[in-house]
Amino acid sequence: MDIAQLERGIVKGDRRALSRAITLVESSRADHRQLAAELVEALKGEGGVAREALRIGLSGTPGVGKSTFIEAFGGMLTAEGLRVAVLAVDPSSARSGGSILGDKTRMDRLSRDPNAFIRPSPSGAHLGGVGRRSREAVALCEAAGFDVVLIETVGVGQSETVVAEMADLFVLLLAPAGGDELQGVKRGIMEIADIILVNKADGDLKSAASRTCADYSGALRLLRKRAQDPEGFPKAMMVSALEDTGMQAAWQEMRALADWRRAHGHWDARRAAQARYWFGEEVRQGLLAQLAAPEARAAMEELGAAVAEGRTTPAIAAQALLERIGAQTGKRG
Ligand code: GDP
Repeated sequence: MDIAQLERGIVKGDRRALSRAITLVESSRADHRQLAAELVEALKGEGGVAREALRIGLSGTPGVGKSTFIEAFGGMLTAEGLRVAVLAVDPSSARSGGSILGDKTRMDRLSRDPNAFIRPSPSGAHLGGVGRRSREAVALCEAAGFDVVLIETVGVGQSETVVAEMADLFVLLLAPAGGDELQGVKRGIMEIADIILVNKADGDLKSAASRTCADYSGALRLLRKRAQDPEGFPKAMMVSALEDTGMQAAWQEMRALADWRRAHGHWDARRAAQARYWFGEEVRQGLLAQLAAPEARAAMEELGAAVAEGRTTPAIAAQALLERIGAQTGKRG
């Protein structure tokens, strides 16, 4: 694999090179991981700030209209001459072995748009691995000159947090609630959302969408104001992905928020904090990988038996294990 050639291709915006590079970062082979890390490092700062994409995280439960929204929203952006990449973070694919997100057939028009690039979710990894791969894929798309990178995820478990840690803005897509019942949106998700879009604000669903939007506007006002937000954010708005309405307004708000954060120093601060977070993640994942190595497992077995038989204590045995695999313990000396 010629890394320098891949690098040149990506910088030129060659989609085949980008696809191959993403396949490389998705590989779990150790030699591929090494090459991928080198490639991402080489591309870092390529073209400078001019190559900084707007990374938008988009979350919503299945059926809420994510793919329909991405098709409409992405199509609007490419019509404006912007280049749009769509990536997916899908932890459930780890279990099913197949991707349910970012499937090209779900975004038929956009997948044929020369200014769009759609990449299905990597499969066969636990969330930690999926997060790293997606983050590196985002970096590759950015280096390839995409203006907007949409990172889509299903609202399950921890995946929103992972996506929020690689996005500049986080958008939550909701469907109109039937009757008065409030949707079970967890507080944690509300707290990371910058913009809530109530989709399906059309036809018979329009008045329900309007009520849901008002409910969430109220709920958002009750949240503590964040330093990284201008007046009026986070906010709830209505869209119809099916009828293609509200897309311009949503895009304007996203840009307004991004511009404000850039102007007030929050943009760089957020990216810096994210880099720090991913460093910590890499360290944690690295340690977990060491524990999974055969020698470590054997030592775990042996020391575990010693603890079970009362020959040593859990704390002392753990220290011995960490020392054997070369990890630093809290012990000095
Ligand atoms: P996803 O699972 O979140 O990707 O949802 P889809 O985009 O596949 O949409 C799920 C269903 O909702 C499909 O039948 C869509 O046609 C429908 N849908 C999506 N957006 C809208 C909308 O704005 N209005 C209405 N009425 N239906 C929509």
